[in-house]
Formats: sequence, C-alpha cells, structure tokens
Amino acid sequence: MYVKFWGVRGSVPVPGKDTIFFGGNTTCVEIHTSDNQLMVIDAGTGIRLLGNELLKGDFGKGAGNMHLFFTHTHWDHIQGFPFFMPAYIGERDANGKRVPGTCNHLSLYGASDVDKRLDATLRGQMEHFYFPVDLEYLNASISFHSLEENSVKLGNVRVSARKLKHPNGVLGYRFEDAGKVFAFATDCEHPEDGSMDPGILDLAKDADVLVYDAQYTPEEYNPALIGKKGLSKVGWGHSTPVEGAKIATVSNVKKLFLTHHDPLHNDDQIHNMEKMAQELFPNSLAAYEGLVLDI
Ligand SMILES: [Zn+2]
Ligand SMILES: [Zn+2]
Repeated sequence: MYVKFWGVRGSVPVPGKDTIFFGGNTTCVEIHTSDNQLMVIDAGTGIRLLGNELLKGDFGKGAGNMHLFFTHTHWDHIQGFPFFMPAYIGERDANGKRVPGTCNHLSLYGASDVDKRLDATLRGQMEHFYFPVDLEYLNASISFHSLEENSVKLGNVRVSARKLKHPNGVLGYRFEDAGKVFAFATDCEHPEDGSMDPGILDLAKDADVLVYDAQYTPEEYNPALIGKKGLSKVGWGHSTPVEGAKIATVSNVKKLFLTHHDPLHNDDQIHNMEKMAQELFPNSLAAYEGLVLDI
C-alpha cells in the first residue's frame, strides 16, 4: 500500500507560520492498494489538494474511480468535499443525464446508523446558505454505501470498520492488502477506567501501521487527574499520545503515527507530544502533511 497524508489537523484548519511543519489542513489520507485501487479516508480540507493532484490523471478525464471512507461527519472531516474538483468532472446529455464513460465515480461509505445522514450531511453543507453549488450539480456519479461493524472486500483488499467512542459515533478502519495492515483510528476517546477499547484492539492487532488520535496531552485531556485546574476535555472524543503508545504496544503494532493535532498546538508542541509517545513506544512519529508511507 502507498499511503499519503493530505491533512493531519483536528477540529479546524490552521494555516500559519507556527504550523508549517505538520501542516494546517484537516483529515484526509490517500491509499493506493496493491491492485491499483484508490481509497481515501475522510474529506477534511486536505482532500482539496489531493483532488488537484488527481486531476492530472484519469480523474481529469472523467475516468477516475475512488472509494471514500468517512470516519464520521463532523465538520473537520467533510468540509473539503465541496472543493474536491474530481467530483465536478463529467458530462450530461440534453436531459441532464450523466453520459456514461465521461464521469468520475465516487463511492462514499459511512456508518450504517448515520448512512442517510452521510448523504443528508454532505448535501446539507452544500445548501445555498453555505455554498453556491448544490450537490446535485456535481457531474461525477456518486453512490452512498452503509458500513456496519463489518467488512467489505474491494478487489484484493479487505476493509473492516469498528465503531469507536466519539460524540455521535465514529468508525475506525483496518485495510488489509497483500498481507499488510494499515489501521486508522481518529476522533476516538479511550475508556475512562484505564482499559482499552476492544474495537481499537481489533483494528490495530498486528498492524504494520496504526494511525491514532493524539489531540491532547494527558494533562490537557484531564487536568484534575494530576491535581491541576483547567478545562477538562473528557467526553470530547479524543485521546493522547500515551494511550496511542499503550495500544500500539499491546497490539504488536510495527509503527505508530499520531494524528488529529490540536489547532492550539504549534509545531514545537507536537514534536514534544511525539517524544512523549516515543518514550513509551520508540517506533512512533507524529504524522505530518505530505508524509508518504510504503507499507
Ligand atoms: Zn475531528
Ligand atoms: Zn469528530
């Protein structure tokens, strides 16, 4: 699998001189499988840049095909979608019907209990209150698919989903391709009792790569735990580098990448959080925009 990170920021895009190293775009990851399929996780603002790159190939000619897996529909995971130019490529006949062979095809996947909401939510953020172009005007053919806590086989690749802990729910994913495993779990909170989420353990088991939400330091997450005062983030649906390192160790993961960096954290602070993870699990790295992995 070829994997590229196009957005690793959580919550809101943060361009600026203090976020140049890790980047300011929100979640989007591109995966090219060994059988040459394009799979993408989330449509945060990073997907805009991916789209521009894809236009140089089949997607520029209306001959592209991709599978887009949504973890959930919070803003930072869908806001790039209206700016994903391959969704606009295609031709219509005089009746407005898409002309076969001229339109890109996008298969969109979301959790079954929010499936209709995936459609409604993407449509909603393109209503005229928010955006000038309606979803119906996109010329690419778009299909919606629901994913329960199960798996789909696409070509040679098995994609498994697990529901994880986040306000309104979130899916974590495990991609298995030619004996290699890429696991992705963002916007997931660890259990309060010190245990580990069985869903994450399923996804991460023996993974070559685990990408894990590490938005907060343990102190930011729950200041009271170490006797400090401050705003608690318990229940907000995010985790820490320490929890990521624990899961990676127990799950026999080969390499851990931290993601969903807090918009309040500059590059130096994220480097410090990377060190925090490395002290517990040496093969850790904070993911940055443009990072490419060959798995
Ligand atoms: Zn998020
Ligand atoms: Zn979220």
